[in-house]
Amino acid sequence: MRKTAGSALHASFEFGGLTVVALLDGHLDLPPSRLRPPDGLTVDPVLVDGQLRLSVNAFLVDDGRQRVLVDTGASTSWEPTLGRLLDSLAAAGLDRGSITDVAITHAHLDHLNGLIAPDGSDAFPALQRVFLGKGDEGRLSGDFARFRDRAVLVAEPLPVTPWMTALPARGHTPGHTVYDVRTDAGHLLVWGDTIHVPSVQFAHPEVAWELDHDQELARAERAALLARLATPGHFVAGAHLDWPGIGGVVPAGDGYALVTDLG
Ligand SMILES: [Zn+2]
Repeated sequence: MRKTAGSALHASFEFGGLTVVALLDGHLDLPPSRLRPPDGLTVDPVLVDGQLRLSVNAFLVDDGRQRVLVDTGASTSWEPTLGRLLDSLAAAGLDRGSITDVAITHAHLDHLNGLIAPDGSDAFPALQRVFLGKGDEGRLSGDFARFRDRAVLVAEPLPVTPWMTALPARGHTPGHTVYDVRTDAGHLLVWGDTIHVPSVQFAHPEVAWELDHDQELARAERAALLARLATPGHFVAGAHLDWPGIGGVVPAGDGYALVTDLG
């Protein structure tokens, strides 16, 4: 995993024969009370003006012929600090008309709603398939009903391309799904909202997030994915990890740490 280019809105990495591009949608400021530590544990998150600052990242994986975009940002559905994904694609020199496959980690606003551009049109005019975890498909209603006929629902491990597999990782939402990218350089796990607050939850994966649909399940899934990632040849790309959201995981104390110096 080697960084090859970047701007304020994108960061490109070479990963085996693939190019992985982190794309910034923006950021969200949320109250620290969203963190749910177990009884007896006091946590000390990094705060900005008293708030948790979550980066909101999407990732594009390109094999030179096919491009898969994982998550789409919030478009205009949430805070004005979000919704920059189409600018980020342009900054990376990527034509949104070239994207035929979108893989959604889960159907929350900051991941799904960028399927629709701020002007109400389809953000990706050539879109053919939208991967989405079974259980989250209820969000394909209203303005999003137009994507139902292209939805591929993930209920078990499912190939997206020869180098990407969708894996159910339930807990944050009923359909939360992660995407495993495999090359001869190793595995990159694009893990959606497995961790919301990196300054706390790597060291303390037992700390839950208020908005997890099933906090117990999310906690177990986080523990399992971290254990897998803390082995050689594994990398993570996280929607809410600090920009650009790509790193490696190492054991540290009773928990883990994120390593972002990949050189
Ligand atoms: Zn999210």
